[in-house]
Amino acid sequence: MKSLGELTIVEALELLEKRECSSVELVAGMIEVIKERDREICAYVSLDEGGAFEQAKAADAARARGEKCRLLGVPIAVKDILNVQGQPCTCGSAILKGYVSPYDATVIAKLRQDGAVFLGRTNMDEFAMGSTTENSALGVTRNPANPGFVPGGSSGGSAAAVAGNLAIAALGTDTGGSIRQPASFCGCVGMKPSYGRVSRYGLTAFASSLDQVGPICKTVRDAAALLDVMAGHDSMDSTSIDVPLTDCTAAMKKDLKGLKLGLPREYFVKGMDRSVERSVMAAVETCRELGAEVIDVSLPHTEYAVATYYIIATAEASANLARFDGVRYGARREGADPLEMYCNTRAHGLGREVKRRIILGTYVLSSGYHDAYYIRAQKARTLIRSDFEKVFEECYALLAPVTPTTAYALGEKINDPLQMYLGDILTIPANLAGICGMSVPCGVGDNGLPVGLQMLGPAFKEERILHVGHAFEGAMTQKAGRA
Ligand code: GLN
Repeated sequence: MKSLGELTIVEALELLEKRECSSVELVAGMIEVIKERDREICAYVSLDEGGAFEQAKAADAARARGEKCRLLGVPIAVKDILNVQGQPCTCGSAILKGYVSPYDATVIAKLRQDGAVFLGRTNMDEFAMGSTTENSALGVTRNPANPGFVPGGSSGGSAAAVAGNLAIAALGTDTGGSIRQPASFCGCVGMKPSYGRVSRYGLTAFASSLDQVGPICKTVRDAAALLDVMAGHDSMDSTSIDVPLTDCTAAMKKDLKGLKLGLPREYFVKGMDRSVERSVMAAVETCRELGAEVIDVSLPHTEYAVATYYIIATAEASANLARFDGVRYGARREGADPLEMYCNTRAHGLGREVKRRIILGTYVLSSGYHDAYYIRAQKARTLIRSDFEKVFEECYALLAPVTPTTAYALGEKINDPLQMYLGDILTIPANLAGICGMSVPCGVGDNGLPVGLQMLGPAFKEERILHVGHAFEGAMTQKAGRA
C-alpha cells in the first residue's frame, strides 16, 4: 500500500470516490508526513492546517451529498507567489513579511471551485528570480533525491514537495523555466502552459509577458487533470486567451505512430553533461520505439535566448517590483521622509539577486540605452518565436533536454550569477515564444540525480505534449517493470 504522500491525484480521487479514505484523513495524513519529513527538505514555508481541515470537511460533505467536482477533496501545495485569500504570500522575500492576501488568484478560485484543498505554501527564489531556491529569504530547500543538492528553482519548494512525497501535487510558475527545471532536477512532471492559457490574475508579477502558472505533479495524467481545471479565459487578465483546451484525456490514449518529432540541434549545447545527453538520447530512442519519427531540426536563434530573456525579464521586473516600497504591502522601515522610507524598506527588504535585476532592468530601459538593449531584445524575441513557428509547420512537437546539467550541490553556483543564468538556455526560449513545454523524468545522471526530457509544443496545443509525455512515461514505467 502506498503512503498518502506517494498518491497521485488520480489515485487519491479513486480512494475518495470508493470511500476508502476521506479528504480529512488525507489532509491529516499529509500534515503528519510533512511535519516529520519537511524538517530536512524545507519544501514548505507555511501550512494552513485550520483552513485545510475546513476545506476537507466541506469536500467530504459535498461528496456525501453526491456532488461531482473534478478535484473534490484533493490536497495540493501552492507556490508562495500565488494569492490565496487569508494566507501569507511572501514570494520568498523579507519585504512581504506579514502580508496577508486579501483575495484568491483566479487559478486558486478555479481550483477551489472544483474542490481542491490548499494545504500549504512552498518555498521559492525571491520573486521567482533564480534557479535553485537558494535566493529565498525563508530558508534553503533541499533536493529529496539528495539533500546536499539544490532542488532547482524558482519553484523548488513545489518540486521538492511533490518528488519527496510531501504533496500529491503542487502549483508552480514558469517565467524562464521555473516549473520545468525544478521538476527535472527533482524527478517529477512539470508543465508550463502556453502564455495566455492560465490567468495570471493574483499571481505576483515578475515578468508579465513571460509568467505562466502550471502544475507540478507525479504523472502526466495528473498534470492534465490540474491544467483542465486551471485553464481558461479570465476577464481580470487581458492576456488570458479564450481558446478551448482540447480534451487531454482523449489525446493521451494514443501511441506515437506516424508522428514527426523534432530534435533541435542547438539544444545539445557545449559543455553539456554527458549523462544528460545520454538519458535524453535514450528517451528519443524510446519515442522511436513508440512509433514516432524523430528528425533533426534547427532553432538558429537559440544562442540569443539568454541575453534576450535577461533584458526583457529584468526590464519588466524593474517596473513590476516598484510597488514594493513599504506603503501598501508587507514590511516597512521608517525614515525621516517618504523617500528615505522607500529606500530603507527596499534596501533591507529585497535580496541581492532581486536588487541586481532591478538595477539591470532599470538600466536597459533608461533613455539612451532603451533602443540598444530593450528594443533589440524585442526583435530577437520575434526571431526566436519565428524559429519555433517554422519547425512546428513540420513537427508535431519537439524533444529536448531541460537543462544542460543535473542538479548541483547547494552553494555551488550561488556566487556566480552568470553561470546560473546560462543554465536557463534550454527553458527560456519557450517563454519568449509563448509556447507550451513540459519536463518528464527520463533517467538518472552520473551524480545519481534525475534527468528530465523536455517536450515543447506549439502555442495552445498542450494536448500534444501531454500525449507525447504520457506515451513516453508509460514506456518508461514498462521498462522499469521489466528491469
Ligand atoms: N531561472 C530563471 C530566472 O532566474 C527563471 C525563473 C522563473 O522562471 N521564474 O529568471
